[in-house]
Amino acid sequence: MFENLQDKLNKAIKTLKGQGRITEINVAATIKEVRRALTDADVNYKVAKDITDRIRDKALDRKVLISVEPGQLFVKIVQEELTELMGGEAQGINIKGDPAVILIAGLQGSGKTTFSGKLSAYLKKQGRNVLLVAADIYRPAAIDQLKVLGEQVGVDVYSEPENKDAVAIAKNAIDQARKTGKKIVIVDTAGRLAVDEAMMQEIEAVKRAISPTETLFVVDSMTGQDAVNTAKTFNERLNFDGVVLTKLDGDARGGAALSIKTVVNKPIKFISTGEKMEALDVFYPDRMASRILGMGDVISLVERAQQAFDEDEAKRINAKMRKNQFDFDDFLSQLQQIKKMGNVKDLLGMIPGMGKMIKDLDIDNDSFKPIEAIISSMTPKERQRPDIIDGSRKKRIASGSGTNIQQVNNLLKQFDEMRKMMKKMNTMQASGKLNKMMR
Ligand code: GDP
Repeated sequence: MFENLQDKLNKAIKTLKGQGRITEINVAATIKEVRRALTDADVNYKVAKDITDRIRDKALDRKVLISVEPGQLFVKIVQEELTELMGGEAQGINIKGDPAVILIAGLQGSGKTTFSGKLSAYLKKQGRNVLLVAADIYRPAAIDQLKVLGEQVGVDVYSEPENKDAVAIAKNAIDQARKTGKKIVIVDTAGRLAVDEAMMQEIEAVKRAISPTETLFVVDSMTGQDAVNTAKTFNERLNFDGVVLTKLDGDARGGAALSIKTVVNKPIKFISTGEKMEALDVFYPDRMASRILGMGDVISLVERAQQAFDEDEAKRINAKMRKNQFDFDDFLSQLQQIKKMGNVKDLLGMIPGMGKMIKDLDIDNDSFKPIEAIISSMTPKERQRPDIIDGSRKKRIASGSGTNIQQVNNLLKQFDEMRKMMKKMNTMQASGKLNKMMR
């Protein structure tokens, strides 16, 4: 996410980070480079000019040149301005109402259906009773897609495949929600490949008929400047409440995230960073600014973990760790939970300084495949008691998993070290040493 922009901004700022003498000339040069980094990332020229003018004024005002840490101060100013540009404070969605109705609009392929599924899962996790509504009357496949997602996240889906009236479907769905005690209704609507009058009229009619508590406009961030233009058109017609940026996991140049708020004056409320149901984050302008500047985003990482981890399972595994009974089945279960958190590279990028380090590394969730294959090739007994895995068992496991003996050995060794570490922590905890060390 934002790798190119991050790279260029860091290069621009580096000259001020204690390298060489700092003069008004190289502050000006840095500002120019920052502006270029922004326009290269597809930020609208005027937006880029305005923000860099403000950065320059602030830098002069706060006397960056004579400050103790000119580079740090400059980064701080850029961070503040980027935060402001993306909307300042994070804005939640309005889910008051009985039921609250959330209308999802956007072009076809922007990620509306995927987002509807993710949002329902997100709200369900918060204990809300949600109904998903398939109001796309043109693509039967869209109904099926929503049904699959609903099933996956355990949320009911309302649809009327034979009905060709989106307004009626949406109204019926809300009636149904009232009858069945659902508190939030998410209406996924039809999109077209491009802005089109008939589509606009239809969604306007749906909006009028159901008076949503929240209308969200979903836009594919990979479409760059087009994303901003589409947002403008939808906003003129729908006066939506917030924006959802999707596909930020791709190598999007990110300009949309930076310009949309200024252009439509509506907050970005969520960002979607993958096809997995958990790859959804509330949009926090300040955290995003830190991420763009390579400062990481540990808070979002922790929140993602909280969303993905199953508390009962965590308790069960914790109990096994305490009894020194952690086995390969538990290990596999943990691995699967981590994978549920989303793309590993994206997750690692949330750790400060890590984004830059792993930029060129080829890691993705497939990197776990050999490990999973090896564990899957073990018998239940071997998973529980890896110490019984001798030479011939290793051979069998390697050929069964399509790996080699060395890979099997490595995994066994790492697992053994992990168990030793757990054991050590347990004894330390028992003797109270751990608390002392933690302090
Ligand atoms: P809709 O036509 O607006 O309902 O769009 P869909 O939800 O069907 O999404 C279109 C395609 O984009 C599908 O293949 C999705 O899996 C994919 N997609 C949606 N959101 C994301 C995202 O955040 N990241 C990535 N990489 N793909 C996404």
